[in-house]
Amino acid sequence: MNQVFIPIVRFVSALYLAAKNPALAILIFLAGILSVSGQNLKWPHGKKAVIVLTYDDGLNSHLDIAIPQLDSFGLRGTFFLYGHLSENRFADWKKTSENGHETGNHSLFHPCRLEDSAGKSPTFSSENYDIPSMIREIRVMDRLLFAITGKHATSYAYPCSETVIGGFDYGESLKETGFFSCARIGGDKTIITDFSNLDYFKVPSYSVNAGTDASTLICYTEEVLKEKGLGIFVFHGIGGDYLSVDADVHLELLQFLKSHTNEIWVATFSEVMEYLQDSEQKL
Ligand SMILES: [Zn+2]
Repeated sequence: MNQVFIPIVRFVSALYLAAKNPALAILIFLAGILSVSGQNLKWPHGKKAVIVLTYDDGLNSHLDIAIPQLDSFGLRGTFFLYGHLSENRFADWKKTSENGHETGNHSLFHPCRLEDSAGKSPTFSSENYDIPSMIREIRVMDRLLFAITGKHATSYAYPCSETVIGGFDYGESLKETGFFSCARIGGDKTIITDFSNLDYFKVPSYSVNAGTDASTLICYTEEVLKEKGLGIFVFHGIGGDYLSVDADVHLELLQFLKSHTNEIWVATFSEVMEYLQDSEQKL
């Protein structure tokens, strides 16, 4: 809603100003058009587009398959972890963080709506939370991540892409904690091109369905490139666990990204969001 609302406000403001000061109104309106279309934005090293690879839930298939594949191409991903981690893999997550991948916060108990919480106690359904308890949980997860990796997470991914907890949106409360510079929601093959109206605490993405083939992933990437935009993949299992895509499919996507490194910037979620926030200040 925000992405539509702000240009309308700009347009109405320009009309109002036009009645009082036509020259000033034209200047402001033109500046608005330029910044909304993102024409002033330049990606680093002359790249044309950006891809962010994110992986949710801290799964063993990330450590065993996705990360070795990423490392073999020198590409980095963002891994959103929640409290359900195997303690015998803590050292592997620490190494992942040390090797330049990002480890983000995905809450402690991963609350979702009751209808999406098959097999879980209703205590952990998002309807039964309130904002203070959710924020407390995120704070505990921050300490757990710090204990494992020695770093505080700077990004967050909403569990089940739900921004509402106990009937209230907690995006603003999340921002007010000061823990994070950005937070990711879900989406269906979203390509971000309107950077001036991007809400850094509700960044849309492409939630990849189980069994998606390589050509679908590559087609989306080509579209991101064509649009000179930003595409954020959300994966779960890679060659195992759940909601998984085949290891070969993931490998093929990485091969494509590697062969287009002169055009596509592949970076972590926080890195790209901080770059955008920094660019915004310079505009
Ligand atoms: Zn999740």
